[in-house]
Amino acid sequence: MNVLVINAGSSSLKYQLMNVETQETLAIGICEKVGSEDSFHKYGLDGAEQLDETPLKDHDDAMALVIEALVSGPTKALDSLAEIDAVGHRVVQGGQYYPISTLIDDEAISKISELSVLAPLHNPPALMGINACKNHMPHVPMVAVFDTSFFQTLEPSAYMYPLPYELFEKHGIRKYGMHGTSHRYVSERGADFLGIPGEKARIITLHLGNGCSASAVKEGKAIDTSMGLTPLDGLMMGTRCGAIDPAIVPFMMECENLNTDEVNNLMNKKSGLLGISGVSNDLRSVQEAAEAGNERALLAIDMYAKAVKKYVGIYLAALGGADGIVFTAGIGENSAMMRAKILEGLEGLGIVIDAEKNAVRGKERFISTDDSPIKVMVIPTNEEYMIARDTFEIVSAL
Ligand code: ADP
Repeated sequence: MNVLVINAGSSSLKYQLMNVETQETLAIGICEKVGSEDSFHKYGLDGAEQLDETPLKDHDDAMALVIEALVSGPTKALDSLAEIDAVGHRVVQGGQYYPISTLIDDEAISKISELSVLAPLHNPPALMGINACKNHMPHVPMVAVFDTSFFQTLEPSAYMYPLPYELFEKHGIRKYGMHGTSHRYVSERGADFLGIPGEKARIITLHLGNGCSASAVKEGKAIDTSMGLTPLDGLMMGTRCGAIDPAIVPFMMECENLNTDEVNNLMNKKSGLLGISGVSNDLRSVQEAAEAGNERALLAIDMYAKAVKKYVGIYLAALGGADGIVFTAGIGENSAMMRAKILEGLEGLGIVIDAEKNAVRGKERFISTDDSPIKVMVIPTNEEYMIARDTFEIVSAL
């Protein structure tokens, strides 16, 4: 089955065409700056990338261009659109409605739209992607795969905030968690890699990219995660602050004379690695600056590592010990320095890193010593595959 995986952002449309049975990627690309004059479409498999600079006024325009590149020109992967069997959409917020992925029908569209209050930056663009596909491929079944679904197994004691209970009842204020598709994929692969059946494994997953989150997975089910009502909670990130004393928010608003948009912007876009280092949100640049003696860059790296280390401790306690810890995403997969810093000094808890293995670059691998009681793994995430797999399962059952 050929599944077109779509990840639509406010000004971007990322896609991948995948044969689910062979796990082969047939086409890949991204339209960026959609809605502006300088929008472009970058596409094509490794070594054969193309760039098309065309003004794209909206997601519908972008979808037309994507379809053209799938069925014609140098990146042609299909003879006709009829060879696309299904479309899988990444949707960030599924609220309490969607513990698993769902077929997109009118009801799903209205629920995704209703949930936009909880994810104003993410659900509306996902709907634009869904509508664009509906316009261009009205008869192709579509599935929504939610970032939040994997965390619908959390117990109320893990997802409730100690605020007045009515706020949960009236506004749905609770922890939902994000990056669920990634945590689900790497926890499954992690258990396979450990040779432990998923329903017996206790795994801590660390998704460290621009956005960062940690989760505790027990017997195949998430029992806790660091992101909350929004993707701002938990770990320090590229530009997001993560968990801070909540009283700082009204305090900053008063002393800096900020309104709600401004304070949100400060915590989401100007904090984290960027806010502390003053250099960049990109760990590579922050590391270069630290190596050149920039003290604030060094502080940012130390704070980042401490925040992740703290969550490793929290989740070891929540799980009652762990069989494995998985690092994934840009920083988790690539930064040996950060992995070593995060797990430094945890030998007493049964986590022993092998410096040589940690330094090796590669695909899925162990980076702990052979006799480390808790095994540490690097597993590249593959959210697109999970979306394609869920889409395949739901559409095959129709
Ligand atoms: P996103 O959340 O946007 O998908 P990524 O998963 O691509 O982000 O992660 C981006 C982060 O990964 C950046 O901070 C970047 O510096 C970091 N990163 C990527 N490659 C490396 C590398 N080789 N060494 C250190 N950090 C890296």
